Amino acid sequence: AGRFTGKAAFITGAASGIGAATAQAFAAEGAKVAVVDIDAKGVESLVERIQKSGGAALAIQADVSKSADVQHAISAAVAEFGSLDCAFNNAGLEGVIAPIIDVDDDIFDYVTAVNFRGAWLCTKYQVRQMLRQGGGSIVNMASAMSRVGGAGLAHYAGTKHAVLGLTRSVALEVANQNIRVNAVLPGIIRTAMFERSVAQNPGAIDDIIAGEPIGRTGSPEEVAKAVLWLSSDEASFVVGSDLLVDGGYCAQ
Ligand code: NAD
Repeated sequence: AGRFTGKAAFITGAASGIGAATAQAFAAEGAKVAVVDIDAKGVESLVERIQKSGGAALAIQADVSKSADVQHAISAAVAEFGSLDCAFNNAGLEGVIAPIIDVDDDIFDYVTAVNFRGAWLCTKYQVRQMLRQGGGSIVNMASAMSRVGGAGLAHYAGTKHAVLGLTRSVALEVANQNIRVNAVLPGIIRTAMFERSVAQNPGAIDDIIAGEPIGRTGSPEEVAKAVLWLSSDEASFVVGSDLLVDGGYCAQ
C-alpha cells in the first residue's frame, strides 16, 4: 500500500512531460488517477500503461480553458472514483518564445486561456467538489518564472505569476475547510516543452546548463516527487506555499 491508497487523483496536461510522470507516480503509490488532457490519444495510451503496471486510471479528454470541459472532466472523475482528493492543475504551454513586440495578440490570449483561466476553472470546480466531500489538496503548476522574468516569455511568465496569486488567494479561502492549495515552481525540466524551445535555438543547451547552479536540467520525475509530497498528509501544514524545484536557479 502506498501513500495514496484509497485516494483519487486528478491531473491535467497528463498526456506528456511532468503531468504524465506525476500520474504514473500517483498510480504507483496506490491512487486511482483521472488522466486529463486535450490530447485524447495521449491520455488513452498513458492509461493503458498505468493499467498494465497494475494501477487504476481513467482517460478524460478536456480543454482546460473551457468551462464545460472542466466541469465534465471533474464530474466524470468523481462518477468513476467517488471523490477527487488530490488535484494537480498542470496543463500549460509557452506558445512562442519571442520579444513582446513580435508576439501575436492571439498567442497571448491562448496562452493566458490555458495557463491561467485553465488553472482558475479547475481550481474553482475542484474546490466545489472538495467542499462537498469535506477536504482535499490542490497543487497548481506555476514555474520558476513565477518568481523571475524570462526574456521572450512575457506572456508566459505573466500567466505563471498569476497562478501564484490564484493559489495564495484560494488557499486563504479554504484553509480552514480541510482543503490545502499550493503551487509547485519547476526550473528547466526536460520535456516536450523544453525540446520545442531548444529546437528554436539549438546552440542554447550549453548556456542553459551553464546557468544552472546544480549543473544540469531537471527530470519530470523530480517534479512529480514534489507534487506527491505537497498532495500527501506529510504536507498537512503546508498551505499557499510556492515550492521551488529548480536546482537552485532562483537562489542566484
Ligand atoms: P509538455 O508539453 O510535455 O506537457 C504539457 C501537456 O499539457 C501536453 O500533454 C498538452 O497536450 C497539455 N495541454 C496543452 N494545452 C492543454 C489544454 N488546453 N487542455 C488540456 N491539456 C492541455 O510540457 P511540460 O513541460 O510537462 O509542462 C507541464 C507544465 O509544466 C506546464 O504548465 C508548464 O508551463 C510547466 N512548466 C514546465 C517547465 C519545463 O521546463 N518543462 C518549467 C516550469 C513549468
